[in-house]
Amino acid sequence: MKFIDEYRDSALARNIASAIRTEVHPDRDYRLMEFCGGHTHAIFRYGVQDLMPENLRFVHGPGCPVCVLPMARIDQAIAIASQHRVTLCTYGDLMRVPASERQSLLKAKAEGADIRMVYSTQDALAIARAAPDHQVVFFAIGFETTTPPTAVALKTARAEGLSNFSVFCNHVLTPPALRAILNDSGQDAARIDGILGPSHVSTIIGSAAYAFVAREHGLPLVIAGFEPLDVMQSALMLVRQINQGRRDLENQYSRAVSPAGNTKAQALMRETLAPRETFEWRGLGWLPDSALRVADTYADWDAEQRFPVEVTPSREIKGCECPKVLRGLLEPTDCKLFGTVCSPENPMGACMVSSEGACAAYWSYGRSR
Ligand code: SF4
Repeated sequence: MKFIDEYRDSALARNIASAIRTEVHPDRDYRLMEFCGGHTHAIFRYGVQDLMPENLRFVHGPGCPVCVLPMARIDQAIAIASQHRVTLCTYGDLMRVPASERQSLLKAKAEGADIRMVYSTQDALAIARAAPDHQVVFFAIGFETTTPPTAVALKTARAEGLSNFSVFCNHVLTPPALRAILNDSGQDAARIDGILGPSHVSTIIGSAAYAFVAREHGLPLVIAGFEPLDVMQSALMLVRQINQGRRDLENQYSRAVSPAGNTKAQALMRETLAPRETFEWRGLGWLPDSALRVADTYADWDAEQRFPVEVTPSREIKGCECPKVLRGLLEPTDCKLFGTVCSPENPMGACMVSSEGACAAYWSYGRSR
Protein backbone atom coordinates (compact mmCIF):
# COMPACT_ATOMS: atom_id res chain seq x y z
CA MET A 1 0.00 0.00 0.00
CA LYS A 2 1.37 3.41 -1.01
CA PHE A 3 2.89 5.38 1.89
CA ILE A 4 2.69 2.31 4.15
CA ASP A 5 4.66 -0.60 2.70
CA GLU A 6 7.51 1.57 1.46
CA TYR A 7 8.02 2.85 5.02
CA ARG A 8 8.21 -0.71 6.39
CA ASP A 9 10.77 -2.08 3.92
CA SER A 10 13.17 -4.36 5.80
CA ALA A 11 16.12 -3.90 3.40
CA LEU A 12 15.89 -0.13 3.76
CA ALA A 13 15.58 -0.53 7.53
CA ARG A 14 18.81 -2.53 7.61
CA ASN A 15 20.55 0.19 5.54
CA ILE A 16 19.45 2.96 7.89
CA ALA A 17 20.37 0.89 10.94
CA SER A 18 23.81 0.31 9.44
CA ALA A 19 24.24 4.05 8.80
CA ILE A 20 23.28 4.81 12.41
CA ARG A 21 25.72 2.20 13.76
CA THR A 22 28.47 3.66 11.57
CA GLU A 23 27.81 7.25 12.55
CA VAL A 24 27.32 7.04 16.33
CA HIS A 25 30.46 7.77 18.34
CA PRO A 26 31.27 4.74 20.50
CA ASP A 27 32.38 6.91 23.41
CA ARG A 28 29.07 8.71 23.99
CA ASP A 29 25.42 7.92 24.65
CA TYR A 30 22.51 9.14 22.55
CA ARG A 31 19.24 9.49 24.43
CA LEU A 32 16.41 10.38 22.06
CA MET A 33 12.96 11.13 23.47
CA GLU A 34 10.06 10.13 21.27
CA PHE A 35 7.26 12.45 22.29
CA CYS A 36 4.35 10.43 20.91
CA GLY A 37 2.91 7.09 21.92
CA GLY A 38 2.60 6.35 18.20
CA HIS A 39 6.39 6.44 17.98
CA THR A 40 6.72 4.23 21.07
CA HIS A 41 4.47 1.62 19.53
CA ALA A 42 6.32 1.73 16.19
CA ILE A 43 9.64 1.29 18.02
CA PHE A 44 8.44 -1.83 19.84
CA ARG A 45 6.13 -3.29 17.25
CA TYR A 46 8.86 -3.28 14.58
CA GLY A 47 11.81 -3.98 16.87
CA VAL A 48 13.46 -0.63 16.06
CA GLN A 49 15.28 -0.46 19.41
CA ASP A 50 16.86 -3.86 18.69
CA LEU A 51 18.33 -2.50 15.44
CA MET A 52 19.99 0.41 17.23
CA PRO A 53 23.50 0.37 18.66
CA GLU A 54 23.77 -0.20 22.43
CA ASN A 55 24.55 3.46 23.10
CA LEU A 56 21.40 4.80 21.41
CA ARG A 57 18.31 4.58 23.60
CA PHE A 58 14.79 5.79 23.00
CA VAL A 59 13.28 7.57 26.01
CA HIS A 60 9.49 7.49 26.08
CA GLY A 61 7.65 10.78 26.43
CA PRO A 62 4.15 11.87 27.46
CA GLY A 63 2.57 11.79 24.00
CA CYS A 64 -0.58 9.86 24.78
CA PRO A 65 -3.60 12.04 25.54
CA VAL A 66 -5.40 9.32 27.47
CA CYS A 67 -2.33 8.65 29.62
CA VAL A 68 -1.82 12.29 30.61
CA LEU A 69 -5.45 12.93 31.52
CA PRO A 70 -5.62 13.18 35.32
CA MET A 71 -8.04 10.97 37.21
CA ALA A 72 -10.01 14.01 38.37
CA ARG A 73 -11.26 14.66 34.83
CA ILE A 74 -12.59 11.11 34.54
CA ASP A 75 -14.17 11.50 37.98
CA GLN A 76 -15.82 14.68 36.69
CA ALA A 77 -17.12 12.95 33.56
CA ILE A 78 -18.60 10.13 35.63
CA ALA A 79 -20.20 12.71 37.95
CA ILE A 80 -21.70 14.60 34.99
CA ALA A 81 -23.18 11.36 33.63
CA SER A 82 -24.54 10.07 36.93
CA GLN A 83 -25.53 13.26 38.78
CA HIS A 84 -27.10 15.03 35.79
CA ARG A 85 -28.36 11.84 34.10
CA VAL A 86 -27.08 12.83 30.68
CA THR A 87 -25.83 10.55 27.91
CA LEU A 88 -22.05 10.77 27.95
CA CYS A 89 -20.32 9.83 24.69
CA THR A 90 -16.60 9.23 24.31
CA TYR A 91 -13.90 7.29 22.47
CA GLY A 92 -13.27 3.66 23.42
CA ASP A 93 -9.76 4.23 24.80
CA LEU A 94 -11.15 6.13 27.78
CA MET A 95 -13.71 3.56 28.91
CA ARG A 96 -11.36 1.44 31.05
CA VAL A 97 -9.01 4.12 32.36
CA PRO A 98 -8.96 3.88 36.16
CA ALA A 99 -10.72 6.70 38.00
CA SER A 100 -10.85 7.27 41.77
CA GLU A 101 -12.23 4.58 44.10
CA ARG A 102 -11.48 1.86 41.54
CA GLN A 103 -14.11 3.37 39.25
CA SER A 104 -13.98 3.77 35.47
CA LEU A 105 -16.42 4.91 32.80
CA LEU A 106 -17.09 1.25 32.01
CA LYS A 107 -17.91 0.40 35.63
CA ALA A 108 -20.11 3.51 35.93
CA LYS A 109 -21.94 2.35 32.80
CA ALA A 110 -22.43 -1.11 34.33
CA GLU A 111 -23.89 0.59 37.42
CA GLY A 112 -26.49 2.37 35.30
CA ALA A 113 -24.95 5.58 33.94
CA ASP A 114 -25.71 6.17 30.26
CA ILE A 115 -22.16 6.18 28.90
CA ARG A 116 -21.64 5.25 25.27
CA MET A 117 -18.58 4.57 23.16
CA VAL A 118 -18.55 6.48 19.86
CA TYR A 119 -16.14 6.50 16.94
CA SER A 120 -16.49 10.19 16.09
CA THR A 121 -18.03 13.48 17.10
CA GLN A 122 -20.54 12.88 14.31
CA ASP A 123 -21.83 9.80 16.18
CA ALA A 124 -22.40 11.95 19.28
CA LEU A 125 -24.21 14.60 17.24
CA ALA A 126 -26.42 11.88 15.70
CA ILE A 127 -27.36 10.60 19.17
CA ALA A 128 -28.32 14.16 20.17
CA ARG A 129 -30.39 14.68 17.02
CA ALA A 130 -32.25 11.40 17.60
CA ALA A 131 -33.26 12.31 21.18
CA PRO A 132 -33.93 16.06 21.28
CA ASP A 133 -35.42 15.91 24.80
CA HIS A 134 -32.34 14.28 26.28
CA GLN A 135 -29.00 15.94 27.05
CA VAL A 136 -25.94 14.47 25.28
CA VAL A 137 -22.39 15.35 26.37
CA PHE A 138 -19.36 14.58 24.25
CA PHE A 139 -16.27 13.85 26.40
CA ALA A 140 -13.67 15.42 24.10
CA ILE A 141 -10.06 14.39 24.57
CA GLY A 142 -6.88 14.49 22.53
CA PHE A 143 -3.95 16.52 21.33
CA GLU A 144 -4.20 19.07 18.53
CA THR A 145 -4.82 16.25 16.01
CA THR A 146 -8.29 15.44 17.30
CA THR A 147 -9.27 18.98 18.26
CA PRO A 148 -10.60 20.12 14.84
CA PRO A 149 -13.43 17.50 14.83
CA THR A 150 -14.54 18.82 18.23
CA ALA A 151 -14.47 22.37 16.81
CA VAL A 152 -16.59 21.21 13.87
CA ALA A 153 -19.07 19.54 16.25
CA LEU A 154 -19.48 22.78 18.22
CA LYS A 155 -20.00 24.76 15.05
CA THR A 156 -22.50 22.20 13.74
CA ALA A 157 -24.42 22.14 17.02
CA ARG A 158 -24.76 25.92 16.96
CA ALA A 159 -25.69 26.02 13.27
CA GLU A 160 -28.40 23.38 13.83
CA GLY A 161 -29.59 24.88 17.11
CA LEU A 162 -28.88 21.57 18.87
CA SER A 163 -29.53 22.73 22.42
CA ASN A 164 -29.27 19.22 23.90
CA PHE A 165 -25.61 18.75 22.85
CA SER A 166 -22.55 19.98 24.73
CA VAL A 167 -18.83 19.27 24.99
CA PHE A 168 -16.78 18.35 28.08
CA CYS A 169 -13.52 19.66 26.71
CA ASN A 170 -10.21 18.02 27.63
CA HIS A 171 -8.11 18.88 24.61
CA VAL A 172 -4.48 19.55 25.50
CA LEU A 173 -1.61 21.25 23.70
CA THR A 174 1.72 19.55 23.11
CA PRO A 175 4.25 22.44 22.97
CA PRO A 176 3.65 23.49 26.63
CA ALA A 177 4.09 19.87 27.76
CA LEU A 178 7.37 19.56 25.90
CA ARG A 179 8.47 22.90 27.33
CA ALA A 180 7.68 21.64 30.86
CA ILE A 181 9.77 18.50 30.35
CA LEU A 182 12.69 20.52 29.00
CA ASN A 183 12.40 23.11 31.79
CA ASP A 184 12.57 20.34 34.37
CA SER A 185 16.17 20.54 35.47
CA GLY A 186 15.48 18.70 38.75
CA GLN A 187 17.75 15.99 40.03
CA ASP A 188 15.73 13.20 38.48
CA ALA A 189 14.96 14.97 35.18
CA ALA A 190 15.45 12.71 32.18
CA ARG A 191 18.62 13.47 30.19
CA ILE A 192 17.69 14.02 26.58
CA ASP A 193 20.02 14.64 23.63
CA GLY A 194 17.39 15.07 20.92
CA ILE A 195 13.68 14.77 20.31
CA LEU A 196 11.50 12.92 17.82
CA GLY A 197 8.74 15.50 17.47
CA PRO A 198 5.00 14.89 17.03
CA SER A 199 3.91 14.08 13.50
CA HIS A 200 0.11 14.02 13.30
CA VAL A 201 -0.12 16.93 15.74
CA SER A 202 2.26 18.87 13.50
CA THR A 203 0.01 18.39 10.48
CA ILE A 204 -2.39 20.71 12.35
CA ILE A 205 -0.15 23.18 14.20
CA GLY A 206 2.85 23.05 11.85
CA SER A 207 6.48 22.21 12.52
CA ALA A 208 7.30 25.85 13.38
CA ALA A 209 5.43 25.38 16.67
CA TYR A 210 8.49 23.46 17.92
CA ALA A 211 11.15 25.98 16.91
CA PHE A 212 11.50 26.94 20.60
CA VAL A 213 13.17 23.59 21.35
CA ALA A 214 16.32 24.50 19.41
CA ARG A 215 16.11 28.23 20.12
CA GLU A 216 15.43 28.14 23.87
CA HIS A 217 16.72 24.74 24.93
CA GLY A 218 19.57 24.13 22.49
CA LEU A 219 18.27 20.68 21.52
CA PRO A 220 17.74 19.18 18.06
CA LEU A 221 14.19 18.17 17.18
CA VAL A 222 13.08 16.20 14.13
CA ILE A 223 9.38 15.96 13.29
CA ALA A 224 9.05 12.20 12.74
CA GLY A 225 6.39 10.10 11.01
CA PHE A 226 4.93 7.02 12.69
CA GLU A 227 6.16 4.27 10.36
CA PRO A 228 9.30 2.37 11.40
CA LEU A 229 11.46 3.84 8.62
CA ASP A 230 10.24 7.32 9.58
CA VAL A 231 11.40 6.74 13.13
CA MET A 232 14.75 5.30 12.04
CA GLN A 233 15.46 8.05 9.52
CA SER A 234 14.57 10.65 12.15
CA ALA A 235 16.95 8.98 14.62
CA LEU A 236 19.69 9.15 11.98
CA MET A 237 18.94 12.85 11.40
CA LEU A 238 19.22 13.47 15.15
CA VAL A 239 22.47 11.51 15.41
CA ARG A 240 23.93 13.63 12.59
CA GLN A 241 22.82 16.87 14.26
CA ILE A 242 24.29 15.78 17.59
CA ASN A 243 27.59 14.73 16.01
CA GLN A 244 27.87 17.99 14.06
CA GLY A 245 26.94 20.11 17.08
CA ARG A 246 23.85 21.42 15.30
CA ARG A 247 20.66 22.22 17.22
CA ASP A 248 18.04 22.60 14.50
CA LEU A 249 14.36 21.96 13.90
CA GLU A 250 14.11 19.49 11.00
CA ASN A 251 11.11 17.86 9.38
CA GLN A 252 11.40 14.22 8.35
CA TYR A 253 7.62 13.94 7.87
CA SER A 254 7.52 16.51 5.07
CA ARG A 255 5.01 14.41 3.10
CA ALA A 256 2.35 15.60 5.55
CA VAL A 257 3.72 18.44 7.67
CA SER A 258 4.42 22.03 6.62
CA PRO A 259 5.92 24.79 8.77
CA ALA A 260 2.56 26.57 9.15
CA GLY A 261 0.31 23.49 9.43
CA ASN A 262 -3.38 23.47 8.62
CA THR A 263 -4.38 27.12 8.94
CA LYS A 264 -8.07 26.41 8.26
CA ALA A 265 -8.22 23.97 11.15
CA GLN A 266 -6.35 26.44 13.36
CA ALA A 267 -8.91 29.17 12.55
CA LEU A 268 -11.76 26.81 13.39
CA MET A 269 -10.14 25.93 16.72
CA ARG A 270 -9.60 29.63 17.54
CA GLU A 271 -13.26 30.36 16.80
CA THR A 272 -14.76 27.64 18.99
CA LEU A 273 -12.18 26.99 21.72
CA ALA A 274 -10.04 29.14 24.01
CA PRO A 275 -6.89 28.52 26.04
CA ARG A 276 -7.25 27.56 29.70
CA GLU A 277 -5.03 29.43 32.13
CA THR A 278 -3.82 26.15 33.53
CA PHE A 279 -4.59 22.43 33.26
CA GLU A 280 -3.38 19.36 35.11
CA TRP A 281 -1.35 16.76 33.21
CA ARG A 282 -0.77 13.39 34.80
CA GLY A 283 2.95 13.18 35.49
CA LEU A 284 3.69 16.80 34.66
CA GLY A 285 1.39 18.64 37.08
CA TRP A 286 -0.41 21.90 36.38
CA LEU A 287 0.87 23.56 33.21
CA PRO A 288 -0.08 27.09 32.10
CA ASP A 289 -1.74 27.58 28.71
CA SER A 290 -1.58 23.84 28.04
CA ALA A 291 -5.22 23.03 27.29
CA LEU A 292 -8.37 24.31 25.63
CA ARG A 293 -11.87 24.99 26.89
CA VAL A 294 -15.05 25.81 24.99
CA ALA A 295 -14.93 29.49 23.94
CA ASP A 296 -17.21 31.99 25.67
CA THR A 297 -19.07 32.55 22.41
CA TYR A 298 -20.01 28.84 22.51
CA ALA A 299 -20.78 28.77 26.25
CA ASP A 300 -24.25 27.29 25.61
CA TRP A 301 -22.50 24.15 24.35
CA ASP A 302 -20.01 23.94 27.24
CA ALA A 303 -20.83 20.94 29.46
CA GLU A 304 -18.70 22.30 32.32
CA GLN A 305 -20.95 25.36 32.54
CA ARG A 306 -24.17 23.51 31.87
CA PHE A 307 -23.54 20.58 34.26
CA PRO A 308 -21.36 21.75 37.16
CA VAL A 309 -20.13 18.95 39.47
CA GLU A 310 -17.88 18.75 42.48
CA VAL A 311 -15.46 15.87 42.87
CA THR A 312 -13.11 15.10 45.73
CA PRO A 313 -9.39 15.34 44.93
CA SER A 314 -8.21 12.08 43.38
CA ARG A 315 -5.21 9.99 44.34
CA GLU A 316 -3.10 7.93 41.95
CA ILE A 317 -3.22 4.16 42.42
CA LYS A 318 -0.54 3.15 44.90
CA GLY A 319 2.52 1.77 43.16
CA CYS A 320 1.57 2.96 39.67
CA GLU A 321 4.57 4.71 38.14
CA CYS A 322 2.69 6.32 35.23
CA PRO A 323 3.82 9.85 36.23
CA LYS A 324 7.49 8.83 35.99
CA VAL A 325 6.97 6.73 32.85
CA LEU A 326 5.35 9.75 31.17
CA ARG A 327 8.37 11.94 31.93
CA GLY A 328 10.86 9.41 30.60
CA LEU A 329 12.29 8.76 34.08
CA LEU A 330 11.33 5.09 34.30
CA GLU A 331 10.65 2.34 31.81
CA PRO A 332 7.36 0.45 32.26
CA THR A 333 9.22 -2.67 33.37
CA ASP A 334 10.72 -0.65 36.26
CA CYS A 335 7.20 -0.48 37.73
CA LYS A 336 6.66 -3.22 40.33
CA LEU A 337 3.06 -3.65 39.16
CA PHE A 338 3.99 -4.30 35.51
CA GLY A 339 2.94 -7.82 34.60
CA THR A 340 2.11 -8.68 38.19
CA VAL A 341 -1.13 -6.94 39.07
CA CYS A 342 -1.14 -4.58 36.07
CA SER A 343 -1.92 -5.87 32.59
CA PRO A 344 -4.24 -4.78 29.77
CA GLU A 345 -6.94 -7.06 31.27
CA ASN A 346 -6.52 -5.43 34.68
CA PRO A 347 -4.96 -2.01 34.10
CA MET A 348 -3.81 -0.07 37.14
CA GLY A 349 -2.83 3.05 35.20
CA ALA A 350 -3.69 4.84 31.99
CA CYS A 351 -0.35 3.90 30.40
CA MET A 352 -1.53 0.27 30.31
CA VAL A 353 -5.03 1.03 29.03
CA SER A 354 -4.44 3.33 26.14
CA SER A 355 -3.50 1.94 22.76
CA GLU A 356 -0.76 4.60 22.72
CA GLY A 357 0.51 3.99 26.26
CA ALA A 358 4.13 2.97 26.85
CA CYS A 359 3.16 0.18 29.28
CA ALA A 360 0.72 -1.26 26.73
CA ALA A 361 3.49 -1.14 24.09
CA TYR A 362 5.89 -3.05 26.34
CA TRP A 363 3.18 -5.57 27.17
CA SER A 364 2.01 -6.06 23.57
CA TYR A 365 5.42 -6.45 22.03
CA GLY A 366 7.14 -8.64 24.55
CA ARG A 367 9.09 -6.26 26.80
CA SER A 368 7.95 -8.14 29.89
CA ARG A 369 10.07 -8.43 33.03
FE1 SF4 B 1 1.01 2.20 35.97
FE2 SF4 B 1 0.61 -0.35 35.20
FE3 SF4 B 1 2.34 1.16 33.87
FE4 SF4 B 1 2.88 0.36 36.37
S1 SF4 B 1 2.67 -0.98 34.58
S2 SF4 B 1 3.21 2.39 35.49
S3 SF4 B 1 0.84 0.38 37.28
S4 SF4 B 1 0.13 1.50 34.03
